Amino acid sequence: MSRFFSSKYDGLKPYVPGEQPRGRTFIKLNTNESPFPPSPKAREYAARAAENIQLYSDPECTALVEKMAQMKGLTPSQVLFGNGSDEVLYLAFLAYCDQKTPAMFPDITYGFYKVFAQSLGIPYTQVPLKEDFSVCVEDYFGAGKTIFIANPNAPTGQLLTLSQIEAILRNNPNHVVVIDEAYIDFGGESAISLLGRYENLLVTQTFSKSRSLAGGRLGVIFGSEAMIADLKALKYSINPYNVNSMTMAAGLGALEDEAYTLENCDRIKENRAFATEKLRKLGFEAADSFANFILAAHPAVPGGTLYAKLKEKGILVRWFDTDRLRSYVRITVGTRQEMESLLAAVAEILEETV
Ligand SMILES: *Cc1c(COP(=O)(O)O)cnc(C)c1O
Repeated sequence: MSRFFSSKYDGLKPYVPGEQPRGRTFIKLNTNESPFPPSPKAREYAARAAENIQLYSDPECTALVEKMAQMKGLTPSQVLFGNGSDEVLYLAFLAYCDQKTPAMFPDITYGFYKVFAQSLGIPYTQVPLKEDFSVCVEDYFGAGKTIFIANPNAPTGQLLTLSQIEAILRNNPNHVVVIDEAYIDFGGESAISLLGRYENLLVTQTFSKSRSLAGGRLGVIFGSEAMIADLKALKYSINPYNVNSMTMAAGLGALEDEAYTLENCDRIKENRAFATEKLRKLGFEAADSFANFILAAHPAVPGGTLYAKLKEKGILVRWFDTDRLRSYVRITVGTRQEMESLLAAVAEILEETV
């Protein structure tokens, strides 16, 4: 770092993205991307939009907002798109957290929440998940903080029911509750249906996972018209053209091809069930996942060893070197063939080491 870097960033630990390997081709099961290409319609629309990028993109994302609002039964003023859901989550930290209103989230969850809080100088509380990695809903009642919960949670894959989320909302009437639904298309019910009843609810979703647009960077936040107006005021104070024209067009194509997304999600769910069962047969502990990844630990092979040995064999998974997660690896659910390659490699590693 230079000597000019503001001292307010002392101790900042930036988010560490999963590896994006160059050169050697890996089976990439480490960043929860889709193994499937984007919908043909998304690609076609993006290519057409590229012909006009001498013009600024539509800062209101009008066509995309209207389509999404119609699909979700909301008004267009309840929908705001961002450069990935990371950006709309960041706007929520900016809008609803400060010294008086700290952030609150589970100790094991999406790593970016902590980075956002730290980089903005926002105090935060990390609430330990239970021993079985489930969220203890009561821990969040009357917290006096802005609550961030990923549902399904990452990297645990565990799900809260809508009535559990409702209990958190009901017990925090004067604080904002943000439900991050990056993985909701792979299992579980969206909290969007609760928006009419809870003015303190925000819901985020992404096109990076189920819609195969991770590189396009497109995310969305849903809430009351008043809260979306807050977030828009900040967006227009930071980066009005936050979604580029190609991505906006690709997103619209993806939404117009919902059948393609649903079919891909079905395939991921089938492959997830297949891989979970086989991993358990190989001696792994793996809870049922509601997301497009599996968190698995083997009693005889530490997570870090498994990660390194899989990498030698050309398969990338994610390993988190933290106290509670060190024995696990997080495996993105890919194609059936990718899962078969993973299982074969794991079986070899177990034979070599156990
Ligand atoms: C992937 C992910 C995101 C961010 O996705 P974007 O690519 O920025 O849209 C947000 N939350 C969770 C829990 C995620 O896993």
